[in-house]
Amino acid sequence: MNNRFTRLFGNDKTKLRLSEAAISNTLPHALLIVGPAGSGKHTLATEIAAAANCQNLGVKLDGAKLPCGICNNCKRIYSGSFPDVNLLGRSSGKATIGVEELRDFREDMFLSATEAKFKFYIIEDADLMTPAAQNALLKVLEEPPKLVHIILLCTEADKILSTIKSRTQYIQTELFGYDELRAHVRALSEKATILERSDPDKFGAILLSSGGVIGRALDMLDDGRTDAITQRRECVMAFIDALPKRAPFSKLYSATQALPSKREELKCVLEDIRNALRDLVASRVSDDIAPIFFLSVEERERSGGALNQKRLIEVYDIITSAIEDIDKNVVISTLLTDIAVRIKGKV
Ligand SMILES: [Zn+2]
Repeated sequence: MNNRFTRLFGNDKTKLRLSEAAISNTLPHALLIVGPAGSGKHTLATEIAAAANCQNLGVKLDGAKLPCGICNNCKRIYSGSFPDVNLLGRSSGKATIGVEELRDFREDMFLSATEAKFKFYIIEDADLMTPAAQNALLKVLEEPPKLVHIILLCTEADKILSTIKSRTQYIQTELFGYDELRAHVRALSEKATILERSDPDKFGAILLSSGGVIGRALDMLDDGRTDAITQRRECVMAFIDALPKRAPFSKLYSATQALPSKREELKCVLEDIRNALRDLVASRVSDDIAPIFFLSVEERERSGGALNQKRLIEVYDIITSAIEDIDKNVVISTLLTDIAVRIKGKV
């Protein structure tokens, strides 16, 4: 199994199923690959296209890789210079993929392949296709041209029309637990090994903050980002410190005002706060529950020691509803003030 789709970590069942389909020439005409940014959607799509067109596909040597990675087709597919593997994404400066772009793509699908047996059309950010573009795509999916495979990549499957979903095979990329993620990130990045040795806390914080997504952890390993992680954790700690009822309101108010003003960043920090509160609640119940925000039991004890269970649960609920409000387009400055006032109100 470890000789199939070797550029993608984990995802063993998907790799087995799709590589077998490539070997037996039964790959579905259309696939919908769903997962967060950095979870390997693009790598998986490339592996599928390379496997189907690999010149060593029929070679059954023991331990032979699929795709082989060394034939002419594989090499050019990996480098993005193969004429029969086509990529469509959002044009720069545009928020969506429009119907014109889709139509051009669709016309090309009806031309015969230049070199390969199978033509592949990979649509990145497929959830950004306008409804008109999705309908244009639907026409092809209803009667797909022979020897053509369409692979849609997206983070949010609910934005894809159900008529498209019903004509594609759904694949969800795998998210990793802490230990697996640690092993994969170390295998991919020398920076990871160095950081783990020099600053194990920071390395651990990156793994915890990446939500099980390899690409996100690798991005955060870049220097600028590790500082952002430290800042994010400091925000969470300052917030927890301001929660005891005896703490002055001004402290709580400052801690909420110091939270990020950008929607996505704020959501990440609020999720961290919620994880920290969950750790504290769990620690009151049992010593055996491993923390998911705090890096160690000691750090957990240092923070939030003065908070009782009732207070923790009240704040947890307030944070949960604030996270839901972010998606409802509320004004962020109002939301931050509301958090402080609502927590203060629970006396
Ligand atoms: Zn090959």
